[in-house]
Formats: sequence, C-alpha cells, structure tokens
Amino acid sequence: MGLNVIMMGPPGAGKGTQAGRFARERGLLKISTGDILRAAIKADSPVGLRAKTLMHRGELVDDATMIDIVRERLLQPDAQPGFVLDGFPRTVVQAEALDRIVAERNNGPLVVVDVRVPEKELVRRLASRLICSKCGANAELPKAGEPAAARCARCGGELVQRVDDNEQVVLERLKVYERETKPLVEFYRDRPTFRIVNGAQGLERVAHELDTVIDDAALVGAKEAAAEAVKAVSPEKAARA
Ligand SMILES: [Zn+2]
Repeated sequence: MGLNVIMMGPPGAGKGTQAGRFARERGLLKISTGDILRAAIKADSPVGLRAKTLMHRGELVDDATMIDIVRERLLQPDAQPGFVLDGFPRTVVQAEALDRIVAERNNGPLVVVDVRVPEKELVRRLASRLICSKCGANAELPKAGEPAAARCARCGGELVQRVDDNEQVVLERLKVYERETKPLVEFYRDRPTFRIVNGAQGLERVAHELDTVIDDAALVGAKEAAAEAVKAVSPEKAARA
C-alpha cells in the first residue's frame, strides 16, 4: 500500500528538509511544486507549455495548470510507492483536486502533517539564515552549542545574510502564509489523518515525531478506507459491524 503525505508548514519550519529526509528513508517520491513545474516546462509537455506561456506573460500559474502538472507527475510509475508533497496544495481548490487524484491512484490514504513553529522562533531562524554568495545554497543552521560555518558546505563560497530576511520582511511573509493556509488547515483539520507536529525542536526530535505521527495516521487512514470498502460492498454488514 502506498504512503501519501502532504507536509505543511511556514517558511523556516524546516519542512522542506524533513520532507526530503522522510521521502528518502521511505523510498517515496518527494515533490516540490517548483521542481515539477521546472521539469514540466523543460519536458515541453502540453501542460508545461501552458505554464511556460503564463510565466512568460508574467502571470502566475493558475490552479488548473498546477493541478494538471501535479496530476501528471503523481500518476507516473515511480510515484506508485507514494509521495511527499512540499508546497502543494496551496488552495482549497487544489486540495479538492488532490483528493480526486488520490482516489484515482487508489493507492493508500492521504496523510496531512502540519509542522508548527511559534512566530518568534521562525523570525529568529529566518533572520539568522545565511546563504552562499556564490551558489545560493542555504547554509545549515548550526547545532546547539556549535559555531556557524564560515564557508558554504557545497562549494566553499562565502556565506552572507539573505537580503530579504530582515525582521519586517520575515513577519510580512509569515502573515501572508497564515492568511493563505488558514482555509487549507480548516479543510483538513477534522480528518482522522491530519496531524500537528511541533517543529520548534531539534531536527532529530522533529524527525522522530514526524515518523511516529505519519505511521499512525497512515494506519488510521487504511482502516478507514477498509471500512468504507466494506460499506460499499455490503451496507448491511457495515451497519452490523
Ligand atoms: Zn556555495
């Protein structure tokens, strides 16, 4: 059975890192919308061309196009074991479409994890984030008690503070995130496969908590799906159970 995960969380919560790790460890496809958007454009697929035209006109890629790109990717064979989505869905329309795609794949429940970090901590993290002046890679946050690295781990370039990471900009970005994701959280909140994880801990603690809640939610989701299947085949039997 496939394992399908959505990872939500504000910028600075570390969900991209966690999504990558979880996908690697479980042999799942990690999908960030930026990556598959670029891939679709590069592959010149019909939907990729549509996105390219929009972007050339300076327009945002609309829900319908984004949904088609995600759908195309999720129905490919290498996505069969399951996926970890990072950055999708962003809207309720996209979330509804994703439910239909998951039903169409018919391979495992959809688990939604919201990685939460208090605003004060996010501001601290984002404002102290360094990037490489040469290759643009994010410098890793130093572990507690260790000094920050002076050079880029990837290319040895000099690390500098991101220009858009001052406190005001960070707060504004978080406000935009809150506003945009509130309807999404409401959309998923009452599902038995929705989980909240405390992202204000060390990387390893967060990883452990994520592993635990995702496995638990997947189990709950699978049981629910089995009960639904029984109901579909034999409503009387389900009523007796
Ligand atoms: Zn670098």
